[in-house]
Order: sequence, then C-alpha cells, then structure tokens
Amino acid sequence: MNLQELFSKMDGKEKKKEILRLLSLRDEEAEGLHREAAQLREKYFGNKVFLYGFVYFSTYCRNDCNFCYYRKSNPIHRYRKTTAEILQRAKELAGSGVHLLDLTMGEDPEYRKEDFREILKLTEDIKKETGLPVMISPGFLTEDQLAAFRNAGVDWYALYQETHNRELYRKLRWDQDYDQRMEAKETAGKLGLLVEEGILTGVGESLEDIADSLLEMGRIRARQMRVMTFVPQPGSPMEDRTPADSQLERNIIAVLRLLYPQVLIPASLDVEGINGLKGRILAGSNVVTSIIPPCSGLAGVAQMDKDVDEGGRTVEEVSRILKELDLSPATRSEYQDYLVGIRHE
Ligand code: SF4
Repeated sequence: MNLQELFSKMDGKEKKKEILRLLSLRDEEAEGLHREAAQLREKYFGNKVFLYGFVYFSTYCRNDCNFCYYRKSNPIHRYRKTTAEILQRAKELAGSGVHLLDLTMGEDPEYRKEDFREILKLTEDIKKETGLPVMISPGFLTEDQLAAFRNAGVDWYALYQETHNRELYRKLRWDQDYDQRMEAKETAGKLGLLVEEGILTGVGESLEDIADSLLEMGRIRARQMRVMTFVPQPGSPMEDRTPADSQLERNIIAVLRLLYPQVLIPASLDVEGINGLKGRILAGSNVVTSIIPPCSGLAGVAQMDKDVDEGGRTVEEVSRILKELDLSPATRSEYQDYLVGIRHE
C-alpha cells in the first residue's frame, strides 16, 4: 500500500504520527518520499505545471510582523505603483504566458481607502484586459470587502497564517488577531473564493506545529497550500536568526501532496531563486510562483531582488528548467479547467 492510501485509512492521531515521521526523513529516505509525491502529482496533473505572475504593487504596510522586511517600523525605501503601472505590468506578465496574476500588497492604508475602490476597479480592468484568473493578497479583508473582490471577478484570496501555533503566531504577527485572520479565510470560502493558506518554516516552530498546520489547511479547505523557508530580513527583529536550508520545506511539500493529492502546491522562486526550483518540483509542487518581469521595478516578498533583474524569474527560464525534468507549462485552458473542477468539488 502506498503512503497516500495509508493516509486515507488513518484516523487523526495516526495521521499526525505518520506526518511527524515523514517530516523528519533525510537523505535517501527523503528522496523516496519526494519521488512518491512527484508520482502522485503526475497521476493527477500529468506532466503539466502552472505558472503564476507576481505583481507586488505596494510595499507600504500598516502592520509590524516580526519576520517581515516590509514591516512598518523598518526604515526602508518603499514604493507604491500607480494603477496604470500595475495594469501595464499585469499585461506584460500575461503576454509572457503565465496562467494567473497574483496581485499582492502590504496592508497599505492608501490603497485600503474607500474599501479598496481603486484596487477593485483595477482588478476588473486587469481581468478584462488579460482574461486571466486573478489572486489577491492584500492582507486581512472584512466579509463585505471579500464580497466586493469576488464581485470584481477575483478567483483566489491568499492570506497566510504562517503558523497555527497561537503562541508562535503572537510572536510573528504580534499586532494581528489570530481568529479574525482564520475566519477571513473561512468566510472567503463560503463566498465562493478559492483560498490559499501558507506557513513559514524556520521561525521557531516544532515538527508537531507543522503537522498541525498541514491538517488545519485541509480543515479550512484551502485549495492552494504554500510553505516557504524563512529568510532572515535585515532591519527586522528576526534578522539574526540562522537561516535553515530547504530540506524541511521540501519534505512539507511532499507530505502536502500525499495528504491532498489534487491541491495546488507552489514552488516559490522567492526563497532560493531559480536555483531552488528543481528541488521543490521534484518534491511534488505543481505551481511556480513569484514570476516577475526583469527590470520591472517590482520586488519579491522574502527576497526582494533575487534573480529578478537578471531575468531568472521569467516564464522562459522556468520553462527551460521544467523541460529538463520532462515537465512543461500547462495551457491556459488547462488551468481554467482545473479551476472549474475544484469549484465544483
Ligand atoms: S507580512 Fe504582510 S502584513 Fe506583515 S508586515 Fe509584512 S507586508 Fe505587512
């Protein structure tokens, strides 16, 4: 019996014990785990991978998360792109062949004015001009705001808890309410938005915390599940933390694939740049995120400029690496069909 079948027969306690065992695997045992996860991806998605374009359009934020470079008390250079610039970047990304546009900002008070009036209009324009599905990552939203984004045609709402250990959460997102953040995701799901949940690893969590998070992601019916290794950020209270390698991140990707074979699991270019792509894909990821046009003046989240201007985070470069792995970017209609399918689950 394979691991996925084993999981499907286990009760909650047995499942958690097995998750803990798998997360601890190293070397050849970890490679075996990743192989099994990659085979499952192939079973459900063939040799196709989805590509997401990333537009981080405002680095202003009213919050002060301890792990984040863009926290409000960090005296850094910030930018806020105009709606015309954002539309232009979105069109360029669409033209380059991505399947979805991820519109991300810090909780920027300027763009949150009048219940996001400008951003809602912009979202409609982007949908109209590009015809692509849109994900928004603007931070916490009220029920009315979520409904307004849904009505503007948004497909996905991304809101990362980063951990589901409340004590650790208080250290990471010390100025934001845990329950309110979780409830926003559940409300989004009820309103018909697809939800992406995410965690960070290397921020002081235990393997048990990670196991709890993986089960929690399933409970809230997240359809995209993200894990990223924490990168210490200059000027933040966690800048001196020793950076972890990506072994645990790749094990988490593989375990997510075994637990939830049909969900989307990103390989983010934001942690190790283009050089980290193969390892994550080999562990079972089926989405490449944080594709950014070169020389666009746009930043990443965890690595603000890693491989961006060098052109390492483009559809062309990602496609080249996928080809080496006998994989290829999906067509737009394959991604659209996938979305139709999960909406009817
Ligand atoms: S993680 Fe997001 S909400 Fe927190 S400070 Fe950074 S940009 Fe703001």
